[in-house]
Amino acid sequence: MKNVLFAVSEAVPFIKTGGLADVAGALPKAFDKKEYDIKVMLPKYACCEHLNEYELVFEGEVDVELAWRKQYVGVFSTVVDGVTFYLLDSEYYFSGQKPYGQIYEDIEKFSFYSKAVFEACKILNYHPDIIHCHDWQAALVPVYLKTLYKDDPLFAGTKSIFTIHNLLFQGRWIIDEVKDKTGLPESVFANGDLECYGEGNLLKGAVLYADKVTTVSQVYADEMKTPEGGEGLDNIFRFKGDNFTGIVNGLDTDEFDPSKDKMIFKNYDVKTFKTGKRENKLKLQKMLGLNEDKDVMLIGMVSRLSVQKGFDLITYMAEEFLTTSHSQLVFLGSGEDNIADKLCYLSNKYPGRVSTNVCYSEDLSRKIYAGCDVFLMPSQFEPCGLSQLISMRYGTIPLVRETGGLKETVEPYNEYDKTGRGFSFANYNAHELLETLRYAQKIFYDQKKDWDALVRKDMKLDFSWEVSAEKYKELYDGLLE
Ligand code: ADP
Repeated sequence: MKNVLFAVSEAVPFIKTGGLADVAGALPKAFDKKEYDIKVMLPKYACCEHLNEYELVFEGEVDVELAWRKQYVGVFSTVVDGVTFYLLDSEYYFSGQKPYGQIYEDIEKFSFYSKAVFEACKILNYHPDIIHCHDWQAALVPVYLKTLYKDDPLFAGTKSIFTIHNLLFQGRWIIDEVKDKTGLPESVFANGDLECYGEGNLLKGAVLYADKVTTVSQVYADEMKTPEGGEGLDNIFRFKGDNFTGIVNGLDTDEFDPSKDKMIFKNYDVKTFKTGKRENKLKLQKMLGLNEDKDVMLIGMVSRLSVQKGFDLITYMAEEFLTTSHSQLVFLGSGEDNIADKLCYLSNKYPGRVSTNVCYSEDLSRKIYAGCDVFLMPSQFEPCGLSQLISMRYGTIPLVRETGGLKETVEPYNEYDKTGRGFSFANYNAHELLETLRYAQKIFYDQKKDWDALVRKDMKLDFSWEVSAEKYKELYDGLLE
């Protein structure tokens, strides 16, 4: 039995701000427990959800030193669906209303968390064969492993893997502050290992010190090696060579299943999707005040309202699209106000054709995945993307920009040999998006049989976590040979 410890700042079912929590909650379950025992260690935030629903066992306590600071940590454990979660309690660091706050505070908070991971292992007398760390919040773990804890017998032979879920966030701050807050030896800084363009940079340290580095799609990994996609670190990713790879995320196929989903109007599967999706579409149109029309193409988008997601392309071409077609648009999202304002302008100007919903609603999101014909993701960049996987599972054809995980998971449709899974365009350009929408409309309205075959094909695809877990297993096996 090999021990793998996930060091991660969020995990379902305790705390979630993004896709990272889904990965940390789902991936450990997908491993064969006879071979790999995966445990997860995360902060016990005061804002963790439903903590009282779990039986927390007190495992011990320790004072963790971070440079000149010293703070108490309580170590708790609980088991969820066969996976052990360790929760590290520190009222001083983890009592905020949200897991993340100002970066200058977070640098210290997550330096402390990373140090506490090692001290908690000591309390538990737990030897991890691999520590699998995620995103910048756990970036110091590979660095501490090879510096402060390199001679600790408990971690003899322990390897580290660092997975990047979004390169935009690197844990950057004033270098002198980073020196003070991390408590790392001067030699680390003398080499510039945690420094990038004069700033302290925790993520860079993890990339250099981890035995293997991964990200959440191979296409995103390749983009990260270029000056355009490397966010200032492209040379470091090139330097890692074969020790830097991409493994695409999976989907919780039990959770996202149109034949069982209680939030949609009518359940359906690959055999019954025609009537099922029609009923979902009509009821969604009614609920949102759109014209009720089973034959019209309904295009949906469920997304954070962020520049990353390509909203400027949509708002640039939306009126041209709406005035030259009958199709309808539905948006669900929360985030930046200026994006919300532009989408609301569209729904005010085109009532019955455009519905804008500025909120976070799991319930409405499911109804959109089920009721739409096309799902829109014209992202500027997309490390992996979950929504396109959900939409395919619900028989809603994705229309995406060819970037990162979108390029990897949505092979473009070819009407001649009937290959592909969805529609896509290459350049970040509003008229390329418009032309691709028009192409999708042509297939939808004029080649109905082909469209239905595409829906059937997408619904049958296997995006389960087992496929990704197999690839992570190969990575772990390679490290422990
Ligand atoms: P990212 O992690 O960059 O936000 P992903 O596509 O990987 O993008 O995952 C986004 C997830 O969040 C999807 O499951 C999507 O359905 C969900 N989501 C985003 N915005 C909303 C919203 N306003 N209401 C409900 N679900 C949302």
